[in-house]
Amino acid sequence: MKEKNTENNDLMEKIVSLCKRRGFIFQGSEIYGGLAGTYDWGHFGVALKNNIKQNWWKKFVDGRRDMYGIDASILMNGKVWEVSGHVAGFSDPLENGKQFNVMFKTQVGAGEEATTSYLRPETAQGMFVNFKNTVDAFHPKLPFGMAQIGKAFRNEIAPRDFIFRQREFEQMEIEYFTRESDWEKYFEYWKGEMLDWMEEVGIDMAKVHELEVPKEDRAHYSSRTIDFEFDYPFGKKELFGLAYRTDFDLKNHKLEYVDEEEGEKMVPHVIEPTFGVDRAILATILSAYSEDEKDGEARAYLKFKPNIAPVICAISPLLKNKPELVEYANTKVYAPLKAEFGRVIFDDNGNIGKRYRRQDEIGTPFCIVIDFDTLSDDTVTVRNRDTGEQERVKVAELIKFIKNKI
Ligand code: ATP
Repeated sequence: MKEKNTENNDLMEKIVSLCKRRGFIFQGSEIYGGLAGTYDWGHFGVALKNNIKQNWWKKFVDGRRDMYGIDASILMNGKVWEVSGHVAGFSDPLENGKQFNVMFKTQVGAGEEATTSYLRPETAQGMFVNFKNTVDAFHPKLPFGMAQIGKAFRNEIAPRDFIFRQREFEQMEIEYFTRESDWEKYFEYWKGEMLDWMEEVGIDMAKVHELEVPKEDRAHYSSRTIDFEFDYPFGKKELFGLAYRTDFDLKNHKLEYVDEEEGEKMVPHVIEPTFGVDRAILATILSAYSEDEKDGEARAYLKFKPNIAPVICAISPLLKNKPELVEYANTKVYAPLKAEFGRVIFDDNGNIGKRYRRQDEIGTPFCIVIDFDTLSDDTVTVRNRDTGEQERVKVAELIKFIKNKI
């Protein structure tokens, strides 16, 4: 057991250090000793995060006809958090047994005008308070959903485990409104959708487990919750959650829905699939992290699926001091691929072996090398990240070749 723990600690250290070295994730305010529970995202981290969020939005919003996007403000009228039950109940126990409310309290406005509010601890309320606006603007029929991606803040008593438990993080949430009689059907349905998405972004499904959360551990608004847990190196812990929020929130906000055809008034019930962006990323990185031996040397690489990889291909002239190679690489390969895929970089740093190693760690699926043969036959070498195999591909067919593989 002890050995396993050391191995797991080592794995987390390797991941944290790779994320820093390769420009994914940095400790927040690092030059001032950091601020616990905050992280800053570097160039490749932002790319990975954007890909995860875009993939989510594509599947759950653009890919459906019953979902309405929203981008609500982080600061909300303080009453929202009283009515939602967060002021009274969004607390964690301190060691001395006292309850500590984990919302960040803040003042809005100056002097006597000032009112108390909170940085939102969940994005969900931004959707509930816009329920009426959405219904009035779009006249959706039940069942329908609202979806939002945005920051949430919790003054966690003990932030830890890298980006797993932070004080500032991001959520992707759906509130799916349905008739009470249908809640079980849609609960099951959303469970399936959540699992599908995890697989789509490359989360190792063998490490995902469902936990039926017992009543005493459920949030104050939930009548049924399933946690999807993941085997992190630091233990089996929550990845995402699926909650049946009943009509708790809409009722508290005194909101209702009128079926225009039937003339029937009701308070819809809510199924809430919730995804932490940061935990999605941690699980994706942990699922992608691999070590093997290539050409007699140990290597580490991130086996990202191309749909979320921060870089799809890296373009390299074999030698950086040969202007004819550099010119060809820039104009005939990099420029068209960059225009087509966006997530393309030019890498002429160090020798080819070093470039491959760097791109493996970034998780770039394809490295394209322009060599002297290229100048005479217009073909390039495309190296596959996972197998290390190389093949010659005609420059004119490169875009098609990559499109077929992603
Ligand atoms: P935990 O039990 O781990 O504190 P929770 O049950 O309080 O999590 P929820 O309120 O269900 O979490 O929040 C929805 C999602 O937001 C979680 O499934 C998780 O992915 C993410 N999340 C919650 N708290 C944090 C945090 N402090 N840092 C990063 N992500 C978080």
